[in-house]
Amino acid sequence: MENKELHFLSEVSDVLAKKVDTARLAENLKETLNKYVPIKNLSIYVFDTTTGTLRDCKNNWQVMEDTPEIYDAYKNINSRDFVINSKAYKLPPVIGEITFKINSLFMPVVKDEKVFGITELVFENDTQINMEFLFLMKILAGQISLKLQNIVLDEQSRINVEFHDSMKNIAKIIETQYELNYIVPLIGEMLDRFISDHLIYVFLKQNNEFSLVWPKACKDERIYEILKQLSPETPYVLTNDNKIGAFPLTSEGEIIGCIVARSTLDTLSTRDISYLEQLTRQSAITINRANAYAKILQYATLDALTGLNNRRQFEVRLKQEIATTKRQKNPLCAMMIDIDFFKKVNDTYGHASGDTVLRTVASIIKEHLRESDIPSRYGGEEFAVLLPYTHIDEAQIVGERLRKAVENTPVPIDKKNINVTISMGLAEFNPEETGENLFERADKALYEAKESGRNRVCIDKNA
Ligand code: GH3
Ligand code: MG
Ligand code: MG
Repeated sequence: MENKELHFLSEVSDVLAKKVDTARLAENLKETLNKYVPIKNLSIYVFDTTTGTLRDCKNNWQVMEDTPEIYDAYKNINSRDFVINSKAYKLPPVIGEITFKINSLFMPVVKDEKVFGITELVFENDTQINMEFLFLMKILAGQISLKLQNIVLDEQSRINVEFHDSMKNIAKIIETQYELNYIVPLIGEMLDRFISDHLIYVFLKQNNEFSLVWPKACKDERIYEILKQLSPETPYVLTNDNKIGAFPLTSEGEIIGCIVARSTLDTLSTRDISYLEQLTRQSAITINRANAYAKILQYATLDALTGLNNRRQFEVRLKQEIATTKRQKNPLCAMMIDIDFFKKVNDTYGHASGDTVLRTVASIIKEHLRESDIPSRYGGEEFAVLLPYTHIDEAQIVGERLRKAVENTPVPIDKKNINVTISMGLAEFNPEETGENLFERADKALYEAKESGRNRVCIDKNA
């Protein structure tokens, strides 16, 4: 072999040794090849046995359609070395003096002597090549095959690892969070991430009927039809066209809900189905655990994450305080607090960091109140505080102090400090109204605080 060829092969090795995605890989190979012989295009396709189609590595593994030339080449290449100008061709054992005029060249992508994909080279019209070039291409085809085997394997194990990590994170979250309203959307979002090109729906059984809990709407009648076919004995149900799959969430042999995947593109692949089965099983465990927590916590008075009163205890204390206030004619104020742009914290730093922020804000609230004040976690990132023996002007001073304290307390996350702010609504109790009404007014003031720019305290004046 001459220097030029050796140089080419060593460059190819360098290109293949780089850790790049497949789209980049094809581009890099094309560039390298171009130095040797002018080519217009280089593509790599891998056959997907589930859909029975070739997928294009340069295009996010999109399914190839209306490309009979490529499919024919894939079918005909078998144990041959190339398909050149639509004809399958095997290299003779020795290099001869023959030259070809060539427009396109296909080379097999092989694993264990089985063809699982094809590389396509498109040349300038009637490019002249010789046998030596073909020998070189045969070496290249072997190297591409090896690389592709690794990439496919890599991609699968990467998804597996990420999937496992996400599940661990959710399991961690439910140690402090048991509200299904919070957990189910997390599961829905996670599934969405792992199952590409599919829409995910999560249903929970409520009063013996499936009710959609994630996302907010589902208009596809076929999904409701397929839900009727579920039974605890079948692992999953697919529609005839294999585009919708329903995977039951079970607990002790009973169906408690269902995860539905609806394809927007292809049929569900075996890989998709296997993931969905795993994910559904894990999700069921998570949901069951959350249910068990909810049962235990039925009698709890404190919120597990923040240590403040929980919502139930808040209702109890509100009733008591209203009664006392009415009897003793003391002033009483209501405070509603909501963290600003909290969703962004979750989205940027993850839900565990979001929890840290919640705990920090809760402890600042506790710190800045009096003994007699009653702070509660009202839900999600909202806090409700009862301020007995307090008029609205005093409540405003307390509120402002609290707002500033949150603003000025950085929360350490991922070796960084992040700043959050809160918005607040205040209302003073009017003896003619109910406790519920009082907090409705505080909530209205909170809404105003949000609307007028956040990080501020607003007062409801309609007492
Ligand atoms: P705004 O300033 O209008 O209040 O915007 P926001 O992003 O704070 O409000 P939004 O209601 O859109 O988002 C609240 C988020 O709080 C959504 C939900 O996922 C998250 N959340 C609720 N409960 C918890 C929890 O216990 N832990 C964590 N980490 N996030 C929670
Ligand atoms: Mg909110
Ligand atoms: Mg908020």
